Parts: sequence; structure tokens; C-alpha cells
Amino acid sequence: MKKLLLVKCAPEIFLKGLNKGKFERKLKNNIKNVFKDTDYSFVVDQGRWFIECDDLKRGIKRLKNVCGISEICVVDEVDSNMESIESQALENSMENEGKTFKVVTKRANKKFPQTSMDVSREVGAYILQNTHGLSVDVRKPDFFVNIEIRDKTYVYSRRIKGIGGMPYGTNGSTMLLLSGGIDSPVAGYMMARRGVRLNYVYFHSHPYTSERAKEKVKELAGVLKKYTGSVNLYVVPFTKIQMGIIENCREDELTIIMRRFMMRVACDLAARYGIDSVTTGESIGQVASQTMESLVVSNDAADRPVFRPLIAMDKVDIMDVARKIGTYEISILPYEDCCTIFVPKHPKIKPRLEEIKKAESVLDIDALVGEAIENTEFFN
Ligand code: ATP
Ligand code: MG
Repeated sequence: MKKLLLVKCAPEIFLKGLNKGKFERKLKNNIKNVFKDTDYSFVVDQGRWFIECDDLKRGIKRLKNVCGISEICVVDEVDSNMESIESQALENSMENEGKTFKVVTKRANKKFPQTSMDVSREVGAYILQNTHGLSVDVRKPDFFVNIEIRDKTYVYSRRIKGIGGMPYGTNGSTMLLLSGGIDSPVAGYMMARRGVRLNYVYFHSHPYTSERAKEKVKELAGVLKKYTGSVNLYVVPFTKIQMGIIENCREDELTIIMRRFMMRVACDLAARYGIDSVTTGESIGQVASQTMESLVVSNDAADRPVFRPLIAMDKVDIMDVARKIGTYEISILPYEDCCTIFVPKHPKIKPRLEEIKKAESVLDIDALVGEAIENTEFFN
């Protein structure tokens, strides 16, 4: 008898028609990548994917971060005969804490003498005869005993929910504006989970923001690496732009003008490195720079699509996701970011595009953006 992990793809992948193969290949490669430093084998049996590895617990942990997997099942492989199937099914039931069960059989191997219904019935009866206190519930059982009859037979009850979504790398790329806050890492996670390749841009205002603030952003990108496999972080020196705005513009317009600069730099970097879009952690109404009017004005400075996956989420729900993905504890560390240092006392809540454009026209926008990009540092 062998223990294996059965990997189930998110059902959405099966809706891809002719493109299904492309998504499956990507997912397979991503799975192979997370196991590449271990001894493992990847077995495909009639469309089912199995992983054999020496440390199942670690294997599950790795697979739980692979986007596009809906479920991971711990499977016992036995010979395809009733005796072996029954004894394994009994063992699985006794390991389970539930009181009611249902046997579900799939028979891909049509040479097997009994029908799936017969197998389920016989195995169910065998479990009942050999245990105390268990009963069958076909509607809402505490646990399932799944049996898949192929060349070999796979018996499993333990099912672990996967991350879902789409295979990483199948849906284009984005430049995430990554601050040290709670929101932007969550926005990145949500895009990565849908298969969008992530790159990051952080605006650093040395010496007003410390080295430690930059390290914090690197650390956040490092946590997201468990979903993306890499860190592609661009650190943009932002002080000169901010000083230019502070010296030349009205205090209540600082934030919105600064956000327009962030958009321009992010878009130009994206263009330079072949990245399709930009993503932020903005959520409607959260702060002055995230009112509908402010978003319209900052969006105007972008020349490619800007995605805001958190736009309709409440802060408490964003925080829950941050805890789940492991970024929360880092995000709440109290290092200042460039926005917290240059916050006006009364920022404009309803900026008007024409006014803002006029206000910023005193700056040499192209030169400031160009210089920031020339001095951008890249970390991998
Ligand atoms: P977060 O928790 O993600 O920092 P926030 O609630 O603090 O967000 P803002 O400071 O208004 O909100 O920032 C809105 C978005 O702008 C952030 O989610 C992030 O995408 C981007 N952003 C803000 N500051 C920076 C920065 N220094 N570098 C890169 N992106 C930034
Ligand atoms: Mg912030």
C-alpha cells in the first residue's frame, strides 16, 4: 500500500474548452516547481494527478499555496480487488472522527467486475459490520469514503481545501503598487490567485522613510513569493517628486498630485518591462485619496488598465485575508511610509481634474518621472 496526494484542479479550468490543455500544463509546471528541491514523483493516471513524496505534511503545505488547485486528497493506493478496498476503507473510517459516512465509488476501470453502486453498498456494509457507533447518511454525512477504481484503486477520506483560482502565470501580468500597509499585499494576493503574474513597485522617500520601511516591503513581497515563486520589486526614489510637489503646490492637493505621479511612474515602468497593467490596494471611501472623485483624478494619470481588487471590500474583511496569507503581522509593524509623512491636514476629498492638472503643470512632470525611473533599483 502506498500513500499519495491526489491533486484536483479548480473546476473553472475544465470550462476552458480548447484552452484547457494550456492551463493544465501551466498548473503542472507550477506544481513541479514547488517540489523541485525534494524527492517526489508526479504520476498521471487517466487525467488524475498524483504526487508521491516522502513528507506528506510538507507536500500538502506546498500544494495549498499553488493557485488553481481546488482540493488535495490524501489517498491510499491499493490493489484493485474487493478485499484490499474493504480493508483500506475500514481503516480510513476508523481514523475519522465523524459518526456518519457515505461511500462514493467511481469506476474508471470498466474491467472491474462490480458496478460502482455494488462496490459502495458492499464496502458500506463491511464498514458497518466492523465498527461501533458509525452509521450511513447519504444526504449529509460527516465524512465520505471515496473509492476510485482504476488500474490500482485509490481510497480516501481526508480532503484539504486548496487555494482555488487560476494557475499562476496564465492571466497576464501586473505592476502592484506595494506599500507597507495592510491593503496592497492583499490586493496582490487576489490578483496572483487569479493567475496574474506580479511585479511590485514601492515608492521610497529616503531619508524621510527609513531603510527599515523598505525592508518591510521586501519582506511582504517575500511572503507573497509562496504564491508567485519570485520577487520582482522595483524601488523608486520618490523624495525629489514629493519635495517638488510640497514646494510648488497647495497643501490640500499634495496627496492627489502625489498619487498621480505614482500612477505615471508605475505605468512607465510597466511599459518599459512589458507588464500589462497596474494594481493598487485602494478601496472605495477608505481615505480621502480613495473617494470616487479622487480615484477618477488619479486614474486619469494612468495610460494602462488599473485594477483595484479590494475596491468593494470592507477593511475588516481585508484584514482577515491579510491574516490568512501571513502578511498582517508584518504590515502592522509601525514603520512610516511616504504617504504618512506628507499627509496634509485637510486633503481635498472631491478634487477636480482640471484644477489638479493646472496645479501640477508648474512641475516638469516628464523630467521628474524620467529621473525617478532612471534611478529605480530592482530586487529579485
Ligand atoms: P495600504 O494599506 O496598502 O498601504 P492604505 O490604506 O494605506 O493602503 P493609501 O496609503 O492611500 O492607502 O494607499 C493606497 C494604495 O496606494 C496602496 O494600497 C498602494 O497600492 C499604493 N501605495 C501607497 N503608498 C505607496 C508606496 N509608498 N509605494 C507603493 N505603493 C503605494
Ligand atoms: Mg498605505
